[in-house]
Amino acid sequence: MFRRNRADREFREAQRAGQAVLAMHTELPLPDCPSPGSQAAPTPAAPESTVVPDFLPADFRAPSRQDVSGFMMRWDLPLIVDGEVHQCHCGAYRNWIVFNMRDDSVWLRCESDHETKEARLDTAWYNRNSGPVDHFHPTLDEGLRHLGQ
Ligand SMILES: [Zn+2]
Repeated sequence: MFRRNRADREFREAQRAGQAVLAMHTELPLPDCPSPGSQAAPTPAAPESTVVPDFLPADFRAPSRQDVSGFMMRWDLPLIVDGEVHQCHCGAYRNWIVFNMRDDSVWLRCESDHETKEARLDTAWYNRNSGPVDHFHPTLDEGLRHLGQ
């Protein structure tokens, strides 16, 4: 109980700070089937190399991008892509889960579990907009539960 309360508090603090960032060691069931709302988009620019921050103690150092299937974070606010509020085909425009996969793709998942690849976003964008990795999860479901979905 205490651990969970503490985790919840830490999560809320992370949320207040901007985002909670997660990484997973397992393969995600992504991509599945693109939702009807997804539109063709230009191929993202060449991926940047991943730099592991060196100011953290070794115990807290994030594994390299090759060590995990991907990263995930909550994005509760409306998400602006190319100057427009991104909207799911179901009408959702906030409370996203944002995934950044090992192949540098970025996926958006709405509250109704619709997953779409957003080709206008990439790892560079994710890195600019995410905080430090604070949790690691063996499964996607665990990560989603941690994020409150
Ligand atoms: Zn949706």
